[in-house]
Amino acid sequence: MRDLFIIKAEPFEYFSEFEEFEEESSLEFTDQEIHSNLSRPVPKTIARHNTDLDAPYFGGNFNFLYNGGANEALITFNTYLSYRKNYSEAEKRNFINNLKRAADVWDAAAEVQVRDINGNYNDKIKLRFKLNIVRDSKNSNKKTDVHPTGSRSTWFIGKGRETVMRDLNAFIGSSRNVLVHELGHVWGLMDEYDARWIEKKLSLGHVGTSSPLVKDKKAIMNEGYADEIGNTGEFRGRYFKHFGRALLNSFWGLKNNVIPIKHNGKVVSRTVQGRIVLLKKDIAGSAPLTNDILPFNPRFTAIQVAKK
Ligand SMILES: [Zn+2]
Repeated sequence: MRDLFIIKAEPFEYFSEFEEFEEESSLEFTDQEIHSNLSRPVPKTIARHNTDLDAPYFGGNFNFLYNGGANEALITFNTYLSYRKNYSEAEKRNFINNLKRAADVWDAAAEVQVRDINGNYNDKIKLRFKLNIVRDSKNSNKKTDVHPTGSRSTWFIGKGRETVMRDLNAFIGSSRNVLVHELGHVWGLMDEYDARWIEKKLSLGHVGTSSPLVKDKKAIMNEGYADEIGNTGEFRGRYFKHFGRALLNSFWGLKNNVIPIKHNGKVVSRTVQGRIVLLKKDIAGSAPLTNDILPFNPRFTAIQVAKK
């Protein structure tokens, strides 16, 4: 399935950060004008290796591929498993299985809907999350450092800090739901739990104790993932905003999507607007809610990119 997607997604087009900014700074209508027989122009392809897409947490790292015009985008975490001890084959199998199932929980949990100039949201791009275990650590976005269960103090405190940022640290016995939360960091998300959680003071990427998000207990990056029975830890639209903004950027230059912002009759900026819509409510994969649960869980999470 993954191979099929890759084939479909070719040819790759690589943009460096710099090139991408250049692309974004000007509107290009040429495609539409030259090929006037096209009913509508196609969004740009985005292919980024080792990116966090300007996520809230700088420790995120993954590959991002959007084949311009497709109805899904691919977020891949390539990881090399580094075992700190000689674990049994059964233990390793169990760990890999949990990590794969954790990625499956994220897969297709949300979609990005792009607004057109008439206010419709017909362009829907599903976010596909994939785990890919690589044999050569050079091909990994992050190494997954698999520690013996209960060995926290030996690596998590002290000089391990840098390691936490660079690697995904886990225990050989980490549950699927714990790994769902840890993958959230790989996608560039911050911890949201409050001060009574010991991990917080060791967390490099936390929303901060004054953030209202610490009250959103059910969320996956908060305490929600800890429910291993009902799997009630919930997704939030905010977790997908950076993916959404990246996708909105691929719609720059499309007359159907670029909205001029006017002030006193003059165009002062332009935006491409969209929204995140959850396709899964929670880790269990329950159907998404169809109403707002404010303030933390609106049905639609608005996103936009703007340029002068
Ligand atoms: Zn965390």
